[in-house]
Amino acid sequence: MAQESNELMDKLAALCKRRGFIFQSSEIYGGIGGFWDYGPLGVELKRNLKDAWWQDVVRRRDDVVGLDCSIIMNPKVWEASGHLGGFSDPMVTCRQCKKHMRADHLQALYLESEWIKSLGEEGHLIEGDLIEFRSEELARWAHRKGKKLAPGLALVRNPSVTLSWLAERTEKEGKPVTMSIGDWLAYLATEQLAQTGLQAPCPHCGGDLTPPRQFNLMFKTFVGAMEDSSSVAYLRPETAQGIFCNYRNVLDTTRLRMPFGIAQIGKSFRNEINPRNYTFRSREFEQMEIEFFCHPSEADKWYEYWRDARYKWYVDLGLKSSKLHLRNHEKDELAHYARACADIEYEFPFGTSELEGVANRTDYDLTQHQKFSGKDMTYFDDQTKDRYIPYVIEPSGGVDRAALALLCEAYTEDQAPDENGQMQTRTLMRFHPRLAPVKVAVFPLVKKEGMPEIAEKIYRDCQAAGLSSFYDEKGAVGRRYRRQDEAGTPFCVTVDGQTLTDQTVTVRDRDSLVQDRIAADKVLAYVQDRLK
Ligand code: ATP
Repeated sequence: MAQESNELMDKLAALCKRRGFIFQSSEIYGGIGGFWDYGPLGVELKRNLKDAWWQDVVRRRDDVVGLDCSIIMNPKVWEASGHLGGFSDPMVTCRQCKKHMRADHLQALYLESEWIKSLGEEGHLIEGDLIEFRSEELARWAHRKGKKLAPGLALVRNPSVTLSWLAERTEKEGKPVTMSIGDWLAYLATEQLAQTGLQAPCPHCGGDLTPPRQFNLMFKTFVGAMEDSSSVAYLRPETAQGIFCNYRNVLDTTRLRMPFGIAQIGKSFRNEINPRNYTFRSREFEQMEIEFFCHPSEADKWYEYWRDARYKWYVDLGLKSSKLHLRNHEKDELAHYARACADIEYEFPFGTSELEGVANRTDYDLTQHQKFSGKDMTYFDDQTKDRYIPYVIEPSGGVDRAALALLCEAYTEDQAPDENGQMQTRTLMRFHPRLAPVKVAVFPLVKKEGMPEIAEKIYRDCQAAGLSSFYDEKGAVGRRYRRQDEAGTPFCVTVDGQTLTDQTVTVRDRDSLVQDRIAADKVLAYVQDRLK
């Protein structure tokens, strides 16, 4: 299962690079961990996703307006929000390979660990994940593969001590050791602990891990010419605080009354200890957040409204509901200020993980900003004469995580006939047409007899109507179709010999491969209709 998932992610990442969806940032210099660039197709996908969100949560509503705040803000903001004091993760560091890891991610890292896999292969799988080892096998592993894969592991550094330790406990009757992989890890940790007095073994090299320390995730910088404590500033770790700081400005400059929301899309930065799973956990990413302000007595109702609306939004964009989960947090999982919280999660090939969180944050944020800024954050209702600090419902999603979910969901391999009628494996990206980076591709069958001119006119008409369109006259038409399948283009229009006599063209559907014949001058209307 884990292997299949890795294969799928590898294939997807290869397609994303080959076709220009996602590149490593500064790739020519070897890249930089946790930073990614979106290529020509990726940027269109992301833009379509953000546009869909903006349309649905801002433009099509009367009660939500947009905002675009600066990334660097007065550092007091982060004192008030609690980020300076508490926005940290527990970090452990390997004393051997110097890698840093999140202590609460160790289990997941063990599952991917090369040396643990190799140790697993050394034993004999007898049932489920139960493995039998003999001391000789472990000694051999420690001597050969272990040296390369886990040079820091006590079993590799000092096999005789470790093996006699093991033998004393488990091989008393000359039997092989039988353990599950999980127990094996626990054993290795205990054994390492016994020998070194330190923590569990490093998932990368088996070395000793330090005890966990808190690590603040905010990126620091300096504003102005002086680099001293008075000029320290931070790159925002979330877009939400810009909204809270502007809550009064928005109220004062619009006709909005309670309840109302403010929405923002923008970059956020977190110095993640382990950026991983492709773009899922990055150090620079985009968020799409709404802060919806309401009367405290209506907060429960609005929380449920937004939680369900946001879940449905992802289903409507084409994520299968069987892979989307709405997970309500247990009371003991809630942040101290939150009254309720739910995660919208997607089953990625690497595991089920959060796309968006929806929380009832009570009046915590506005109260904090009132306290730290000294500015009045109350709302006066002139009808009821009620004065209060509003409660806030926050749907907070990640653009890059949603884009990755859409890429995973779209990736499909099927069997389709090639030009010679031979069945071949075809790779296609089944994006919802609303999100597809290119909506329509137009081809002349051959580069002569006036076909390119007709095709180019259709292409220009689609382009002028604002559809992301593509013209291609190079190579065999079958190859051109395959390229568009990988880009996820829902419609391919081909001008052929028949067009010259009856002014019709074929429109090929990416998913069904059905080809409709329609009048050349109806292509634009046809595509627009299908995009609705
Ligand atoms: P996680 O537990 O995965 O670190 P979080 O609960 O800290 O996430 P929030 O602070 O609730 O995340 O951020 C809101 C949204 O921002 C997340 O649902 C996610 O979509 C996105 N997001 C947060 N951190 C990252 C990151 N490092 N890379 C990409 N997207 C992120």
